[in-house]
Order: sequence, then C-alpha cells, then structure tokens
Amino acid sequence: MTTVAAPPEQEDPALASFRAEARAWLDVNAERRRPDANEFKRRFTATTVAPDEEKLHLERARSWQRKLYDAGFGGIAVPAEYGGRGESAAEQRVFQQEVARYEIDTGIFSVGLGMVVPTILAYGTEEQKKRFIPPLLSGDELWCQLFSEPGAGSDLAGLTTRAEHDGDEWVVNGQKVWNSFAHVADWGILITRTDWDVPKHRGITYFLVDMSTPGIEARPLRQITGVAHFNETFLTDVRIPHENVLGEVNGGWGVAQATLMSERVLIGGGGSGMGFRDYLELARHFGQTDDPVMRQRLAATYTRFQTMRWLGERARAATKAGKAPGPESSVLKLAISEHVYENGNLALAIEGPAGMLYKTDAYEDGFWQQQFLGQWGIRIGGGTEQVQRNILGERMLGLPSEPRPDKTDAFRDVPKNV
Ligand SMILES: Cc1cc2nc3c(=O)[nH]c(=O)nc-3n(C[C@H](O)[C@H](O)[C@H](O)COP(=O)(O)OP(=O)(O)OC[C@H]3O[C@@H](n4cnc5c(N)ncnc54)[C@H](O)[C@@H]3O)c2cc1C
Repeated sequence: MTTVAAPPEQEDPALASFRAEARAWLDVNAERRRPDANEFKRRFTATTVAPDEEKLHLERARSWQRKLYDAGFGGIAVPAEYGGRGESAAEQRVFQQEVARYEIDTGIFSVGLGMVVPTILAYGTEEQKKRFIPPLLSGDELWCQLFSEPGAGSDLAGLTTRAEHDGDEWVVNGQKVWNSFAHVADWGILITRTDWDVPKHRGITYFLVDMSTPGIEARPLRQITGVAHFNETFLTDVRIPHENVLGEVNGGWGVAQATLMSERVLIGGGGSGMGFRDYLELARHFGQTDDPVMRQRLAATYTRFQTMRWLGERARAATKAGKAPGPESSVLKLAISEHVYENGNLALAIEGPAGMLYKTDAYEDGFWQQQFLGQWGIRIGGGTEQVQRNILGERMLGLPSEPRPDKTDAFRDVPKNV
C-alpha cells in the first residue's frame, strides 16, 4: 500500500534521524508488506472471520504491540513516566508512515492508543495514568468504547444507561451498541447517566470498566461487509469501583468530548490505508488510463489525497503547538467521509461491469468491493456527516442552533428516543 511521507530533503533533521532509526528496526524485525498477497489485503477482503481466525489475529496483534513497546515504539508521543517515548506527534506520524510498509497490523488497539490514552492523560489521576497507560501501550490490555446506545448515537448526550452510587461502588444498568471489539476487549470507556434532574449534558459520568466484571455481555453484530467487529453490549447490575470514575462525577460530558475529538482525528488520519497509486494501478489494470473522463477523475483523486495529507498536517501542527483537537477535528472527519465515498465509487467505476462481482469471483478477491462497502463504517462511526456539519455551523461559523429545550430542561422531563 502507498503511504505519503514528506520528501527526505524537506524533513527536519531530528525527524529524519528518527525515521532512519525506525526503518532500521523495522527492517530487522518485520517483513515488508508485499503489494500482492499480504495480510493487510487478506483481512480487508474477508467477508467473514471465524472465531479461531479472530483469536489468532488478536494474539498476533498483541505480540506485535508488545514487541513495539519493548523496542520503545509502543507509545511514541506518550510521556516516558507512563511507558511511552516522550516524543511529539510528529515522530508518532513518522512511525505510522514507516510501519505501514510492513506486515504489522495492530489496528485493534486503535481505540486504546488513539482515544483512551489521550483522554486518560488529560483527565486521569496520577494513579489512573500509572495503572492504565503502560499495559495499554504494551498490548496487555485491549480497550473498547461503550458510548452509543440504541436511542443515543448522534444525540449521544441523550444516553439512558444509568449508574447509581452504592457505597464505594457504582451500579450500572443499560444497553450500549456498535461497540467495536467489545467482545474481545479487557477494558472499556463507558459513559452513563448519574443525574436525571439536571440538563442532559450535566448529568453524565465517565467510567473505566473492566470488561470481565459480572453483568457485562457483548453480542457481536454483523456489518454490511459481512464481518462482525462490533457488538451490542448489555450491562446488568455491573459494579464499578468509585476509583474508576474518570474526571468528575457528572462532569463526564467534557471528558467524553476529549475522547470524541481524538476519535475524529484518529478516523480522519487513518483512512483505509490506500494511496493514490493504488487507484492508479487499478485503473491501469482495467485499461482505463486513456479514457479522458477517467483521467479527470484520477486527477481529482490525486488532488483529494494531497488535500487530505495537508489537512492531517494542519491537525498535527495544532497538536504540536499544544492545542487540544477542537471543532476543526470535524473538518477532518467530514473530509475523510467524502474521501472514502469518492474513492469507493471510483474503484467500482474503474472496474466497470466487473465491479458487480463479489468475493473470490472479483478482482483481488473482492478487495475493492469491500473498500466500497466499508465506506459507511468510516462515514458513520465517530459521528455522521450531518452531525459534523452541525458542529461546524454552530461552533466554527457561529450559526444559530435549533431551539433545544433538551439543553436546558432536566433530562428526566425531556422526550426520549426509546
Ligand atoms: C463501524 C462503526 C464502528 C463504531 N464503533 C463504535 C464504538 O466502538 N463505540 C461506540 O460507542 N459507538 C460506535 N459506533 C457508533 C457511532 O458512533 C454511531 O453510529 C454514530 O454516532 C451515529 O449514531 P446512530 O447510529 O445512532 O445514528 P442516528 O443518530 O440515529 O442517526 C441516523 C441519521 O440521522 C441523522 N441525524 C441525526 N441527528 C441529526 C441532526 N441533529 N441533524 C441532522 N441529521 C441528524 C444522522 O446523520 C444519520 O444519517 C460505531 C459505528 C460504526 C458505523
């Protein structure tokens, strides 16, 4: 797969030296990703994943994360006192570019590394940082996100999973949904309603929950691609110690915002791992590169890839300058949504009638069809396009919002979706 790295002549000498160190380590310890038969393509071609196959993948991902951690690459931008390397987001990005060239897939840890770590760093107590970050970086503890509910997705603050205080513990009851990897995760970040008599954003508490606690049941759900990577998760009388509250009781909405902004940056920066050259190669294979209309589409695609690259650079520059991701993260999330939509359509347009084939009948075992179908996961997960537009309209452009009694009335009195 193609990744976009800054040309060496433009690279800051410290970054270039870090890149050389990372490349040297990877060359010795990992296999180069081959553009034809490779683990990455095979996984993204899968229309089902058998439980033993999933177990094997998980073990491989854990052992890779451990190896990266032992070599000092587990948490590149995480402070050294919590098991990281203490570098900046720029080094982290360089490592992502380099590691993408090798047969290493630790994507299952992305919720933990990309969302949980920044949230615990921002809101955790010293004990929480020391307890939770190192085993997350080393791959010993896999994390999932328990936010969405059947009646609260875009309107996440409308959640109704309740937590009630009982001595030194909280007792949680409710249902979450679309929780990626919850069926295999060791820990979860969980938001719950703890006060029903205040406006909805002010009665939410954020917990760190051990997924092996009695009363938690994750049931896998199948996606359009055929793979079941996410779940509906039922919580029945789940007891969580008070020390696992992250941030303040009833202050969980602010903590959740930190997670959601990191999630948008994570999704915006990730994409499908495909580069412009992959689409160009596909067009060459199907003999489409002389078609003037297709050439225009390919030129537009090249421009889009470059724009995505610079949007990502802007977000990283902001992080480097010490700014937490703000509403601009919605620009990135919206841009990646449109990007995967255009790319999915382009792949099938290039294939023409062959685009109607599926699985092993299709070119490259249906890899491109899965790219097309996978676009909705990226466009909906982390907040839909409509929701990102609302955020941009209200928080960046200062447009008036809809009349919203749910922002001021006690949550108990607000009409619910359920
Ligand atoms: C692949 C994938 C992985 C996911 N992983 C996780 C996870 O690990 N943990 C987790 O907690 N959640 C996860 N989610 C859930 C995701 O965050 C929600 O699906 C998303 O926030 C949308 O919520 P919803 O599905 O309830 O849709 P709804 O909120 O019901 O929206 C339905 C439609 O209405 C539109 N809409 C809703 N409100 C407005 C509005 N105010 N203005 C305009 N349009 C509006 C939406 O844009 C959408 O088109 C995942 C989702 C996907 C697809």
